[in-house]
Amino acid sequence: MNYPKLKITFLGTGTSSGVPMIACNCAVCTSHDKKDKRLRSSILVESAKTVLVVDTTPDFRYQMLRAKVGNLDAVLFTHPHKDHIAGLDDVRAYNYFQEQPMQLYANQMTIEGLMREFAYAFADKKYPGVPNLELNTIGLEPFMIGDIPIVPIMVWHLKMPVFGFRFGKFTYITDANRIDEVEKDKIRGSEVVVLNTLRKEKHISHYALAEAVALVQELGIPRAYFTHISHQLGKHMDIEKTLPAGVHLGHDGLVLEL
Ligand SMILES: [Zn+2]
Ligand SMILES: [Zn+2]
Repeated sequence: MNYPKLKITFLGTGTSSGVPMIACNCAVCTSHDKKDKRLRSSILVESAKTVLVVDTTPDFRYQMLRAKVGNLDAVLFTHPHKDHIAGLDDVRAYNYFQEQPMQLYANQMTIEGLMREFAYAFADKKYPGVPNLELNTIGLEPFMIGDIPIVPIMVWHLKMPVFGFRFGKFTYITDANRIDEVEKDKIRGSEVVVLNTLRKEKHISHYALAEAVALVQELGIPRAYFTHISHQLGKHMDIEKTLPAGVHLGHDGLVLEL
Protein backbone atom coordinates (compact mmCIF):
# COMPACT_ATOMS: atom_id res chain seq x y z
CA MET A 1 0.00 0.00 0.00
CA ASN A 2 1.26 3.45 -0.86
CA TYR A 3 1.47 5.74 2.12
CA PRO A 4 -0.59 8.91 1.53
CA LYS A 5 1.26 12.21 1.07
CA LEU A 6 1.23 14.15 4.31
CA LYS A 7 1.41 17.79 5.29
CA ILE A 8 2.64 18.34 8.85
CA THR A 9 2.12 21.72 10.54
CA PHE A 10 3.80 22.57 13.84
CA LEU A 11 0.97 24.21 15.80
CA GLY A 12 3.07 24.74 18.91
CA THR A 13 6.67 24.02 19.93
CA GLY A 14 6.80 25.29 23.51
CA THR A 15 7.07 23.52 26.84
CA SER A 16 4.19 23.48 29.33
CA SER A 17 4.48 27.17 30.23
CA GLY A 18 4.78 28.31 26.62
CA VAL A 19 7.28 30.93 25.42
CA PRO A 20 7.15 33.73 26.49
CA MET A 21 6.38 32.51 30.00
CA ILE A 22 3.95 34.61 32.00
CA ALA A 23 5.75 37.31 34.04
CA CYS A 24 9.22 36.43 32.68
CA ASN A 25 11.49 39.22 31.45
CA CYS A 26 14.39 37.05 30.23
CA ALA A 27 16.04 37.67 26.85
CA VAL A 28 14.07 34.86 25.19
CA CYS A 29 10.69 35.87 26.60
CA THR A 30 11.23 39.50 25.51
CA SER A 31 12.67 38.56 22.08
CA HIS A 32 11.03 40.16 19.04
CA ASP A 33 11.82 37.13 16.86
CA LYS A 34 8.57 35.37 15.90
CA LYS A 35 10.40 32.04 16.24
CA ASP A 36 10.76 32.75 19.97
CA LYS A 37 6.96 32.72 20.38
CA ARG A 38 5.99 29.15 21.15
CA LEU A 39 2.50 27.87 21.94
CA ARG A 40 2.23 24.51 23.68
CA SER A 41 3.41 21.48 21.65
CA SER A 42 1.10 20.00 19.03
CA ILE A 43 1.11 19.09 15.34
CA LEU A 44 -1.52 18.94 12.62
CA VAL A 45 -1.29 15.94 10.26
CA GLU A 46 -3.17 16.17 6.97
CA SER A 47 -3.58 13.83 4.02
CA ALA A 48 -5.83 14.62 1.07
CA LYS A 49 -8.70 12.90 2.91
CA THR A 50 -7.96 13.01 6.64
CA VAL A 51 -7.12 15.75 9.17
CA LEU A 52 -5.93 14.96 12.66
CA VAL A 53 -4.19 16.74 15.47
CA VAL A 54 -1.79 15.35 18.07
CA ASP A 55 -2.86 16.62 21.53
CA THR A 56 -5.24 19.46 22.45
CA THR A 57 -3.05 21.99 24.26
CA PRO A 58 -4.27 24.92 26.37
CA ASP A 59 -3.72 26.89 23.12
CA PHE A 60 -5.86 24.53 21.00
CA ARG A 61 -8.53 27.10 20.12
CA TYR A 62 -6.03 29.67 18.90
CA GLN A 63 -3.96 27.00 17.15
CA MET A 64 -7.01 25.88 15.14
CA LEU A 65 -7.85 29.49 14.27
CA ARG A 66 -4.26 30.40 13.37
CA ALA A 67 -3.80 27.36 11.11
CA LYS A 68 -7.37 27.79 9.72
CA VAL A 69 -8.33 24.19 10.43
CA GLY A 70 -11.86 24.08 9.01
CA ASN A 71 -12.38 20.38 9.50
CA LEU A 72 -10.96 17.94 12.04
CA ASP A 73 -11.48 14.17 11.95
CA ALA A 74 -9.66 13.05 15.09
CA VAL A 75 -7.37 13.82 18.00
CA LEU A 76 -4.45 11.56 19.00
CA PHE A 77 -3.19 11.97 22.53
CA THR A 78 0.37 11.38 23.70
CA HIS A 79 -0.31 11.43 27.47
CA PRO A 80 -2.67 13.07 29.98
CA HIS A 81 -0.50 15.94 31.25
CA LYS A 82 -2.39 19.22 31.27
CA ASP A 83 -0.32 20.93 28.57
CA HIS A 84 -1.39 18.15 26.16
CA ILE A 85 -5.11 17.90 26.95
CA ALA A 86 -6.34 21.21 28.43
CA GLY A 87 -7.87 22.58 25.20
CA LEU A 88 -10.13 19.58 24.52
CA ASP A 89 -13.37 21.40 25.40
CA ASP A 90 -12.99 23.53 22.25
CA VAL A 91 -13.60 20.60 19.91
CA ARG A 92 -17.21 21.69 20.49
CA ALA A 93 -16.87 23.93 17.43
CA TYR A 94 -16.20 20.87 15.25
CA ASN A 95 -19.08 19.01 16.94
CA TYR A 96 -21.32 21.92 15.93
CA PHE A 97 -20.28 22.18 12.29
CA GLN A 98 -19.57 18.50 11.58
CA GLU A 99 -22.62 17.27 13.54
CA GLN A 100 -20.79 14.24 14.93
CA PRO A 101 -18.70 13.29 17.96
CA MET A 102 -14.98 14.03 17.86
CA GLN A 103 -12.97 10.82 17.63
CA LEU A 104 -10.29 10.64 20.34
CA TYR A 105 -7.47 8.07 20.23
CA ALA A 106 -5.43 7.41 23.36
CA ASN A 107 -4.00 4.64 25.52
CA GLN A 108 -5.93 3.42 28.57
CA MET A 109 -4.04 5.60 31.05
CA THR A 110 -4.69 8.74 28.98
CA ILE A 111 -8.36 7.85 28.52
CA GLU A 112 -8.72 7.59 32.30
CA GLY A 113 -7.06 11.01 32.59
CA LEU A 114 -9.44 12.54 30.03
CA MET A 115 -12.47 11.06 31.81
CA ARG A 116 -11.23 12.50 35.11
CA GLU A 117 -10.28 15.96 33.80
CA PHE A 118 -13.35 16.34 31.57
CA ALA A 119 -15.84 14.40 33.73
CA TYR A 120 -18.72 16.66 32.65
CA ALA A 121 -18.33 15.51 29.02
CA PHE A 122 -18.61 11.85 30.03
CA ALA A 123 -21.37 12.19 32.64
CA ASP A 124 -24.56 10.13 32.26
CA LYS A 125 -26.66 13.29 32.41
CA LYS A 126 -24.82 15.93 30.41
CA TYR A 127 -25.36 19.66 30.53
CA PRO A 128 -26.46 20.76 27.03
CA GLY A 129 -23.59 21.92 24.81
CA VAL A 130 -20.75 20.00 26.40
CA PRO A 131 -18.22 18.48 23.97
CA ASN A 132 -19.36 15.32 22.21
CA LEU A 133 -16.45 12.90 22.44
CA GLU A 134 -15.96 9.31 21.30
CA LEU A 135 -13.13 7.42 22.96
CA ASN A 136 -11.01 4.93 21.00
CA THR A 137 -8.52 2.97 23.10
CA ILE A 138 -5.23 2.24 21.36
CA GLY A 139 -2.38 -0.03 22.34
CA LEU A 140 0.92 -0.54 20.57
CA GLU A 141 -0.67 -2.14 17.50
CA PRO A 142 -0.69 -0.05 14.30
CA PHE A 143 -4.08 1.44 13.40
CA MET A 144 -5.71 3.68 10.78
CA ILE A 145 -7.46 7.00 11.02
CA GLY A 146 -9.16 7.61 7.67
CA ASP A 147 -6.46 6.87 5.07
CA ILE A 148 -3.51 7.51 7.45
CA PRO A 149 -1.73 4.43 8.90
CA ILE A 150 -0.25 5.12 12.35
CA VAL A 151 2.31 3.21 14.41
CA PRO A 152 2.30 4.00 18.16
CA ILE A 153 5.71 4.14 19.85
CA MET A 154 6.01 3.93 23.63
CA VAL A 155 8.55 6.26 25.21
CA TRP A 156 9.30 7.14 28.84
CA HIS A 157 8.58 10.50 30.51
CA LEU A 158 10.40 9.75 33.75
CA LYS A 159 8.13 6.84 34.84
CA MET A 160 5.10 7.66 32.69
CA PRO A 161 4.63 5.80 29.41
CA VAL A 162 3.95 8.37 26.67
CA PHE A 163 2.88 7.58 23.12
CA GLY A 164 4.84 8.86 20.15
CA PHE A 165 3.49 8.23 16.66
CA ARG A 166 5.05 7.22 13.36
CA PHE A 167 3.27 8.39 10.22
CA GLY A 168 5.10 6.73 7.31
CA LYS A 169 8.44 8.55 6.95
CA PHE A 170 7.66 10.96 9.80
CA THR A 171 7.93 10.25 13.54
CA TYR A 172 6.64 12.57 16.27
CA ILE A 173 7.83 12.13 19.85
CA THR A 174 7.28 14.55 22.68
CA ASP A 175 7.76 14.41 26.45
CA ALA A 176 10.37 11.66 26.52
CA ASN A 177 13.69 11.22 28.22
CA ARG A 178 14.23 7.52 27.53
CA ILE A 179 13.21 5.04 24.82
CA ASP A 180 13.49 1.25 25.05
CA GLU A 181 15.57 -0.42 22.31
CA VAL A 182 12.57 -2.28 20.87
CA GLU A 183 10.69 1.00 20.44
CA LYS A 184 13.75 2.72 18.92
CA ASP A 185 13.56 0.15 16.12
CA LYS A 186 10.15 1.57 15.16
CA ILE A 187 11.72 5.01 14.66
CA ARG A 188 14.70 3.83 12.58
CA GLY A 189 14.24 4.40 8.86
CA SER A 190 12.21 7.59 9.33
CA GLU A 191 13.22 10.50 7.09
CA VAL A 192 12.17 13.05 9.69
CA VAL A 193 11.94 12.76 13.47
CA VAL A 194 10.57 15.27 15.96
CA LEU A 195 11.90 15.02 19.51
CA ASN A 196 11.31 17.03 22.65
CA THR A 197 14.21 19.15 23.88
CA LEU A 198 13.61 21.30 26.93
CA ARG A 199 16.92 23.10 27.54
CA LYS A 200 20.67 22.53 27.63
CA GLU A 201 20.78 21.39 31.26
CA LYS A 202 19.71 17.87 32.17
CA HIS A 203 16.09 17.38 33.28
CA ILE A 204 14.38 14.44 35.01
CA SER A 205 11.68 13.85 32.40
CA HIS A 206 12.74 15.59 29.16
CA TYR A 207 15.69 15.22 26.79
CA ALA A 208 18.29 17.94 27.14
CA LEU A 209 19.63 19.43 23.87
CA ALA A 210 22.78 17.27 23.69
CA GLU A 211 20.80 14.12 24.55
CA ALA A 212 18.32 14.79 21.75
CA VAL A 213 21.10 15.45 19.22
CA ALA A 214 22.85 12.22 20.30
CA LEU A 215 19.63 10.23 19.88
CA VAL A 216 19.05 11.58 16.36
CA GLN A 217 22.59 10.50 15.45
CA GLU A 218 22.24 7.11 17.15
CA LEU A 219 19.04 6.42 15.21
CA GLY A 220 20.60 7.65 11.95
CA ILE A 221 17.67 9.91 11.04
CA PRO A 222 18.75 12.42 8.37
CA ARG A 223 16.46 15.26 9.43
CA ALA A 224 15.24 16.22 12.91
CA TYR A 225 13.24 19.04 14.50
CA PHE A 226 13.06 19.71 18.21
CA THR A 227 9.92 20.74 20.06
CA HIS A 228 8.58 21.26 23.63
CA ILE A 229 11.21 23.98 24.05
CA SER A 230 11.63 26.06 27.23
CA HIS A 231 12.65 29.71 27.40
CA GLN A 232 15.69 28.31 29.23
CA LEU A 233 17.07 26.85 25.98
CA GLY A 234 17.96 30.25 24.52
CA LYS A 235 16.92 32.23 21.46
CA HIS A 236 15.93 30.23 18.38
CA MET A 237 18.53 31.88 16.11
CA ASP A 238 21.40 31.43 18.60
CA ILE A 239 20.70 27.73 19.23
CA GLU A 240 19.94 26.91 15.58
CA LYS A 241 23.50 28.01 14.62
CA THR A 242 25.03 25.49 17.03
CA LEU A 243 23.20 22.40 15.71
CA PRO A 244 24.72 19.76 13.41
CA ALA A 245 23.63 19.44 9.76
CA GLY A 246 20.06 18.18 9.42
CA VAL A 247 19.12 19.00 13.02
CA HIS A 248 16.90 22.03 13.65
CA LEU A 249 14.75 23.64 16.25
CA GLY A 250 11.09 23.51 15.32
CA HIS A 251 9.09 26.71 15.38
CA ASP A 252 5.40 27.47 15.37
CA GLY A 253 3.99 27.51 11.83
CA LEU A 254 6.71 25.26 10.37
CA VAL A 255 5.25 23.09 7.60
CA LEU A 256 6.74 19.84 6.27
CA GLU A 257 5.48 17.90 3.25
CA LEU A 258 6.46 14.29 2.88
ZN1 LIG B 1 4.39 18.36 27.90
ZN1 LIG C 1 11.74 33.77 30.10
